[in-house]
Amino acid sequence: MRFDLVTLFPAIFDGYLTQSLLEKAIKKGLVEIHRHDMRDWAADTPHRKVDDRPFGGGPGMLLQVDVTVPCVEDVERMAQTPSRKILLTPQGKRFDQPMAEDLAISDRVMLLCGRYEGFDQRVIDILEPEEVSIGDFVLNGGEVAAMTIIDGVVRLLPGVLGDEQSNWDDSFSRGNRLLEFPQYTRPREFRGHGVPEVLLSGNHEAIATWRSEQSLEKTERRRADLLDRPQ
Ligand code: SAM
Repeated sequence: MRFDLVTLFPAIFDGYLTQSLLEKAIKKGLVEIHRHDMRDWAADTPHRKVDDRPFGGGPGMLLQVDVTVPCVEDVERMAQTPSRKILLTPQGKRFDQPMAEDLAISDRVMLLCGRYEGFDQRVIDILEPEEVSIGDFVLNGGEVAAMTIIDGVVRLLPGVLGDEQSNWDDSFSRGNRLLEFPQYTRPREFRGHGVPEVLLSGNHEAIATWRSEQSLEKTERRRADLLDRPQ
């Protein structure tokens, strides 16, 4: 799978792409991540300007349509596979696990990271990207949102996690879309807190029943809204 990141701050991704699962997935050739500095598409002025003040007044600056659209069009041509274009904005459809699963079966995803007050509306009108938000709050830029999406998607690609089963059992995931059951590891007792007996019983059927009951009970208590969603 290939990601193309369109950003004014490509260096923000340096640490993220060179650590842990992401680094391994890249080295194994399971994912390619290409960063593109929007400033390379700026007019050839000393400041390589990419933003300007909004018509009608108001605070802040907007990313210009005559920089963003040619940039995205050129990046699109850098590989033969057409990309799913996602523009990151707090006004978009909320990113969730089913969206991550859907993106994980795409061959190529382009993520457009906004800055300042975001993009000129004509970027959206011309490119018709999917508009995606990672939650009801406002970040300084789309880079952290892009990392969130990459992180959620890459762990679903075959070969990235040691144990593929965890993709099914995780909270919100394909296995049941509920919150995950409580988990325990050694030691068996710590400061008077033990481990539920059933987990030590070796009875796999009883363990599975206990886990699904716990998962349902926790979901009802914390996130009853999940029970009404389509599976
Ligand atoms: N003026 C915009 C608004 O009110 O909708 C917010 C602009 S925000 C300061 C700058 C950029 O950060 C956005 O263009 C977007 O790319 C990114 N961003 C901020 N919050 C986000 C969120 N919740 N999800 C995805 N991207 C976000």
